[in-house]
Amino acid sequence: MADTTRPIETTPARDAELDRIFHLQKRAFEAEPNPTLAARAARLGALIRAVEANESRIIEAIDADFTCRSRHETIVAEVIVSVSAAKAARKHLAQWMRPRAIATPPHMLPGKSRLEPQPLGVIGIISPWNYPVQLALSPAAAALAAGNRVMIKPSELTPTTSDVLRDIIRAEFDEGVMAVVTGGVDLGQAFASVPFDHLLFTGSTSIGQKVYMAAARNLTPVTLELGGKSPAIIDESADIAAAALSIAHGKTFNAGQTCVAPDYVLTPRARLDATVDALAASARRLYPEIDVTSDYTAIVSPRHFARLKALVAEARDAGARIVEVGSSNALDPQRKIPLTIVIDPPADIALMKEEIFGPVLPVLGVSGREEAIQRVNKGDRPLALYWFGEDKAARDDVLKRTIAGGVTVNDTLWHVAQENLPFGGVGKSGVGAYHGARGFETFSHMKPVFYQSKFASSKMLYPPFSEKTDRLLKMVRKFV
Ligand code: NAD
Repeated sequence: MADTTRPIETTPARDAELDRIFHLQKRAFEAEPNPTLAARAARLGALIRAVEANESRIIEAIDADFTCRSRHETIVAEVIVSVSAAKAARKHLAQWMRPRAIATPPHMLPGKSRLEPQPLGVIGIISPWNYPVQLALSPAAAALAAGNRVMIKPSELTPTTSDVLRDIIRAEFDEGVMAVVTGGVDLGQAFASVPFDHLLFTGSTSIGQKVYMAAARNLTPVTLELGGKSPAIIDESADIAAAALSIAHGKTFNAGQTCVAPDYVLTPRARLDATVDALAASARRLYPEIDVTSDYTAIVSPRHFARLKALVAEARDAGARIVEVGSSNALDPQRKIPLTIVIDPPADIALMKEEIFGPVLPVLGVSGREEAIQRVNKGDRPLALYWFGEDKAARDDVLKRTIAGGVTVNDTLWHVAQENLPFGGVGKSGVGAYHGARGFETFSHMKPVFYQSKFASSKMLYPPFSEKTDRLLKMVRKFV
């Protein structure tokens, strides 16, 4: 009789082309399981060339996919960030590849202990549309530095950029080293089912959960770079104008389509109006000609545009006051949304429950630090937290009593743009981290190795046991 208590097993999605490239890369890895420093540096050099030599193609492709993506934003967030990740890896490679000496306990001396970084094999990278080059190539740089082979599945929502990515990687890399595969959700599902040696996914929390489950079938270790509602807290001690300018910048860069964009603002209730005014003034200062400028990025698709409009409409219907820093008449046809400040919205609307991922900014008045901390802690652990103020005790209190993936104090976004700081979420905003040395370690097996000495005393613990063993054990206990 059938066991009806057993869960129904679904067959993992498969794709012949993915299988082919994966096995090709596996064989290539087996033939060269520990690439030399020179080989890794050459691969990082090829990655840098692929981006630098194709800068205009990248700018044009992302602009086409978004219908308008600021050229400067693409240079900063796609070209410079990807190239600097590869350059930093190349610079530090010799140091990162070196075995780390680990202290050996006295009773194990004169043996020696080490952590020896070892490439894992074939790494899978699934990337989203919002920074379609950076979020594919920065993790790729770390994976190549660590001596691995890499397969990338970029987003179907930025198809022109995905094709450019595939072509520029194909022009510089043998398929056995790195390859880009393009396709939609079906391909994504099949990709997540490939038995990679590590899978890095950047995207939404809901898809991240599916990817985690697919990877679990193969016990493939994952890094999940997810999203969430990142708060900006303005303290009583803050300079409101300076805080507002940073927040408006973080919220309008890439039109708020940034995983670490400030999602909402908590400000002292007595300064709520001043905060709203300062945010509006900042947005005007950043985009004085928002109707016509190509400095301001469009929303990626009609579906995403409609979603953001619906979030604002629901807030308006719920009675929230709304300040739009630009005219929708002029911007709607360009699929652009100006900074849209939503003042004190109720907690039970979608705007306050979902990650906003666009230039819509709820601003809530709070009675003080305590209420701000409670509000943050009521939600899922955010990917980023921003705190503004001069009162160091208040700052430390907020930082100690809230848990976020990363923090910038007195600004937004910038903790992410540094190779020396690890980047990743916590709780629902992510699992694991990368960037810089942490990225190298994420894509390496940090293998513990103990080199035994021929003078080791441990043989004295072999049977047959005697009183001498007891005396020795007494001595060992002193060291443990
Ligand atoms: P998404 O989760 O919809 O898609 C991401 C990628 O997953 C795409 O390549 C897509 O094709 C693929 N995919 C879709 N369904 C899949 C499935 N069932 N199995 C495997 N792969 C699948 O995310 P998005 O809309 O492209 O990006 C926006 C989200 O990404 C936001 O939540 C944002 O916060 C988050 N994000 C996080 C970071 C970070 O570094 N933490 C960076 C950028 C964006």
